[in-house]
Amino acid sequence: MRIELEGVEKEYRSGGQALPVLQGVDLVVEEESVISILGPSGSGKTTLLGIMAGLDRPTRGTVRIGDTDLTALTEDGRAGFRAAHVGFVFQTFHLLPSLTALENVQVPLELSPEGGALAAREIRERARALLARVGLEERTHHYPSQLSGGEQQRVALARAFVTRPGVLFADEPTGNLDRETGAKIIALLEELNRDARTTLVLVTHDLSLAERTDRVLHIEGGRVREEVRR
Ligand code: ADP
Ligand code: MG
Repeated sequence: MRIELEGVEKEYRSGGQALPVLQGVDLVVEEESVISILGPSGSGKTTLLGIMAGLDRPTRGTVRIGDTDLTALTEDGRAGFRAAHVGFVFQTFHLLPSLTALENVQVPLELSPEGGALAAREIRERARALLARVGLEERTHHYPSQLSGGEQQRVALARAFVTRPGVLFADEPTGNLDRETGAKIIALLEELNRDARTTLVLVTHDLSLAERTDRVLHIEGGRVREEVRR
């Protein structure tokens, strides 16, 4: 799906003070493209991703994904939209500790409109196939605490793709992993993404990871600047 931001501003309020974080972001991410966003800590990367994904609302401006204006939806409306169309991968994995790897992957599908029409067995089979795809067929009944960081992030990748989302957001997905494990996670993310033809927005600190994507954007002073290459 295509993503379009127009005049997006975000300010946080704390103690009566307004903290401007995004100060006019205009951006189009074409359908099926892969972009990365770079910027120092505190520059607003997570804020921008949350707004693009419909987790949070901008203070001003509009966000569209496909034909839907997320900024015109209620909070429940956005939650429904996310369940149907949005995948997310976090730096700290965010797996549910009381569920097994397989159950963690099943959850978003169970909660999606599509999953409502599937039998439990079909949901389990799709989750199992994705876990096999990320190399964890031997770990389906492990709990997150029994998995390494890299394995937990593999589960999170399977979970992000299980609903076949139109857009996927990854917020520093290698930030808690060593370099080698991180590189494997990115390779896997790229591979899954190529097959699923998802629009992917990747936030990273790592320039070498960013340079593998179609476009590189930098957040600076609350705005987005595109890196022009070659
Ligand atoms: P990044 O992901 O680039 O490190 P963030 O988007 O997390 O940056 O944060 C950008 C700025 O907004 C930071 O100064 C942070 O302290 C502030 N901020 C983030 N979330 C909130 C919030 N919920 N309330 C108040 N300030 C926030
Ligand atoms: Mg962040």
